[in-house]
Amino acid sequence: MDHLKIYIDRLTGGKTQEIDETLAPDFLDIHESELSFKDPVHIKTEAYLADDYLVAPLNIETFAWLPCSICNESIRIPISIKNFPMTQPLAEINGAIFDLVEKAREIILLQTPLYTECNGGKCPERENIKKFLKAEEKPSNPADINYFPFADL
Ligand SMILES: [Zn+2]
Repeated sequence: MDHLKIYIDRLTGGKTQEIDETLAPDFLDIHESELSFKDPVHIKTEAYLADDYLVAPLNIETFAWLPCSICNESIRIPISIKNFPMTQPLAEINGAIFDLVEKAREIILLQTPLYTECNGGKCPERENIKKFLKAEEKPSNPADINYFPFADL
């Protein structure tokens, strides 16, 4: 896939390369059991050279799908990255072509929450879980464990 390739030698002399692409999410190559990406990924940047660095402020818009941590219902979470300061030392770029795929993938994963809850943090199942947790707490009260009713006899 060539859509996210930046050609370093075309940037000399203060030139820029604009990337404005909407791509199918499979290029992210993310295979997590719970997390998935099903919507197109919009990536926009304008790359340029600054001293010994490639600079490409990244704008990324997509959606992550994650199950609610309480009821397990699938939730679509908007991922919106604005001007992420992507820089790469030119010395680390092989063959004068820099592929943004890896960076885009990394940044999207960084911005994706590990846990989420449906209904804007008010999962309807939350009340049921609370009752269950309270009932579970009682047997582990340390006072009960250390109570020796016949110690003073
Ligand atoms: Zn829920």
